[in-house]
Amino acid sequence: MVEDWPLATMDYQTMKPSEVHPTDIFRERHDFMGQTVSINYSPEQKWYYLDKQTPEEVTLIKIWDNKEDVARPIPLISYAIAPKNDLFQFSLKSTPNVAIKAPSTAVDVLIIGGGPAGLSAATTLYRHQHDIRIFDDGKPRNVWETAIHATPTWEGQNPNEFRRKSRKELAKTGLVDFISSTVESIQKKDDGLFYVRTSDGVEWTGRKVLLSTGVRFAFLDIPGYEENFPERIFHCLFTFGYDHRGSSSAGILAVGYAGSPFHANILVDDARKFTDKVTIYTNGNEALAGEIQKVSNYNDTAYDHRKITRFTKLPKSIQLHFDDGKIKEEAFIVHQPGTKVNPSFVEQLGLELSERGDIVTKMPFYQTNVAGVYAAGDAANPFKIISSAMLQGANAGAGIARELPIRVTGNAIDRLS
Ligand SMILES: Cc1cc2nc3c(=O)[nH]c(=O)nc-3n(C[C@H](O)[C@H](O)[C@H](O)COP(=O)(O)OP(=O)(O)OC[C@H]3O[C@@H](n4cnc5c(N)ncnc54)[C@H](O)[C@@H]3O)c2cc1C
Repeated sequence: MVEDWPLATMDYQTMKPSEVHPTDIFRERHDFMGQTVSINYSPEQKWYYLDKQTPEEVTLIKIWDNKEDVARPIPLISYAIAPKNDLFQFSLKSTPNVAIKAPSTAVDVLIIGGGPAGLSAATTLYRHQHDIRIFDDGKPRNVWETAIHATPTWEGQNPNEFRRKSRKELAKTGLVDFISSTVESIQKKDDGLFYVRTSDGVEWTGRKVLLSTGVRFAFLDIPGYEENFPERIFHCLFTFGYDHRGSSSAGILAVGYAGSPFHANILVDDARKFTDKVTIYTNGNEALAGEIQKVSNYNDTAYDHRKITRFTKLPKSIQLHFDDGKIKEEAFIVHQPGTKVNPSFVEQLGLELSERGDIVTKMPFYQTNVAGVYAAGDAANPFKIISSAMLQGANAGAGIARELPIRVTGNAIDRLS
């Protein structure tokens, strides 16, 4: 007869999905073996044990049920309980038989953003038969559609073609749907599911969320800046330098990210691969011009600390207008504008951001600080290029798939039949 350490089971109706957490199982410290779930204690939970269970009284344990209208998992605990501990009921009267059902519209994964990161995640996820909704409002980072570079097999091609081809591949799988609307809000509710609302007022429900929204540029507030970006003002010389090799001159705008001697000098090194005449502009910051000069690797770099009032585009160059009324001309300017992730999602979900304003994620699967939310691509990476976005998307897809085993989703083993 069991008098101490009885096996207790919980009434499934009294457990909230938000109290269930995926728990990694490791052999030693780093040898990942799989996942189970653990349950947070809450005073509302009701636990039962068979008082003084005898060898003739058998407990049948159900670990998981695929049916949705019965208790799915049954949490178990074996604990040294005092018989009068009010956490526990005193005898097993009935088997709980009600499940908390996911709404029938809940899909496995909601992907916000159908650029290289989101498309790459979907390409990984469908291989594990997850159903996916990709929301995209057609405003990618490279909205200018300049040719792709530094991406094997896509050199010189149009970034929209990349998206079109990938969407076509994914549409054929039968598991991916595209929704051409703006996602306005994302909420994680007590049932552990995510509720996404689009600008047309439709609500979508999913088990996991991937934020692959990219970022918006925060351009410098100087007239003519935006009109010259990216044709004459280059944010990246890996993308644009090669096609401007042998240029007559270049300017480095040491403002924002490049507003430090260290970063300005890296950009000078980069620009010197394409032109032998470089000027550093500090837009009114005379002290910074002096500091950069002190650690410069080139004695022929020019420095100009005058305030820039305006940029104008010429057919093959750019003009800088200064507050003293003078004008200078450069073949191109190098400047990396700041970037911003969607502040509404940051606030709604309580996401952690880096100093630079990107979503903080955990390697290797790019989970955010919010359970069930992953982030990939420009929104979660200081290295904002297609191959990085694809890498993060693929890894996030794998991480999400591992959090959605069949014992959690109850998905069929052939979802397309
Ligand atoms: C001018 C320029 C040239 C570039 N050239 C290159 C290059 O040659 N090689 C290279 O590797 N990289 C290049 N890049 C960088 C590259 O474009 C990005 O790194 C890449 O697009 C990032 O992919 P992503 O999926 O993270 O984001 P994006 O491609 O920006 O895609 C994000 C998508 O999310 C959607 N979205 C955002 N918010 C919402 C919302 N609330 N609801 C619905 N949809 C939403 C947007 O409409 C967008 O389509 C360039 C960038 C620029 C600006």
